[in-house]
Amino acid sequence: MSRRRVNRVIAAVTLVKFDAISAAMAQDDLDSTQGLERRKDRPDHIQVADKITGNQVYIKVTHAGLCHTDLGKLNVDMVLGHEPVGIVEETGPDCKRLRKGDVVGWGYLHNSCNECEFCWTGREILCPKREMYGTADLNFGGFGTGAVLRENYVYKIPKGLSPANAAVLQCAGATVFSALYNNKVKPTGRVGIVGIGGLGHLAIQFAKAWGCHVTAFSTTDSKRDEAMKFGAHEFVVTKVPEGETFKVEEKLDIILSTVSGQLPWEQYYKVLKASGTVVTMGLSDDPKMTLPYGTFIAMSTRWSDPS
Ligand SMILES: [Zn+2]
Ligand SMILES: [Zn+2]
Repeated sequence: MSRRRVNRVIAAVTLVKFDAISAAMAQDDLDSTQGLERRKDRPDHIQVADKITGNQVYIKVTHAGLCHTDLGKLNVDMVLGHEPVGIVEETGPDCKRLRKGDVVGWGYLHNSCNECEFCWTGREILCPKREMYGTADLNFGGFGTGAVLRENYVYKIPKGLSPANAAVLQCAGATVFSALYNNKVKPTGRVGIVGIGGLGHLAIQFAKAWGCHVTAFSTTDSKRDEAMKFGAHEFVVTKVPEGETFKVEEKLDIILSTVSGQLPWEQYYKVLKASGTVVTMGLSDDPKMTLPYGTFIAMSTRWSDPS
């Protein structure tokens, strides 16, 4: 599948049923999207579970979201997809929480040591021995047929939330929720959301539901209706004539950047309160982040990531 076509798929579909996307990709003979069955003749990194042991569960995938980060793994010999939801079909002898028939989801983190300070404080995602999508369990991607995981890295989907809607919460939703939660955003806070795509849609909804004043930023006016529909109170077009800067009604406590690229940080720092926070979530090809150093120090601002 060409990168252009993948981009088109992503533009058109933020959430798809597993069967549909799997079929579309298989059609293009993209080997890395084949499921467990097709990997049986590839002993190099096969992890097909003949037997479910310990607290492992076997999950049959029914739905999967499509995340922009998958593009970065296109050349990795693996099954793509890291926003799956499925049904538990088999449980290991030590499973305590999950049962056959439970609807569950999982995301980037597949395993960690359970013995370090990060694991002990609910920050397993920072564990030095973490096992993540793209580096571990390469044939257990969300566009495959199923996966085997330890039950403590799998989330039960509450009744009343459809698997289709739950899928995008496994990465996009978890990322923006963590950004708000870990940075202790108050319901009275003013939150800026940069980028009105998949992550931005969810970030606006979470921040609005939490009670915050939400300012959405986009380079052009084309996303205004979308942003307001999702709950933004204010929409700011960031592309301004040279020498001018964009403005907000009132300065912000926190800015969440969901775009995969660098921003004109100088301008964004002008709409951030003293001691405000900038959270970056999109991966960028540009390895350098240039901050307005004087402002960063003088205004006692913080930079953070969602973890
Ligand atoms: Zn993702
Ligand atoms: Zn650990």
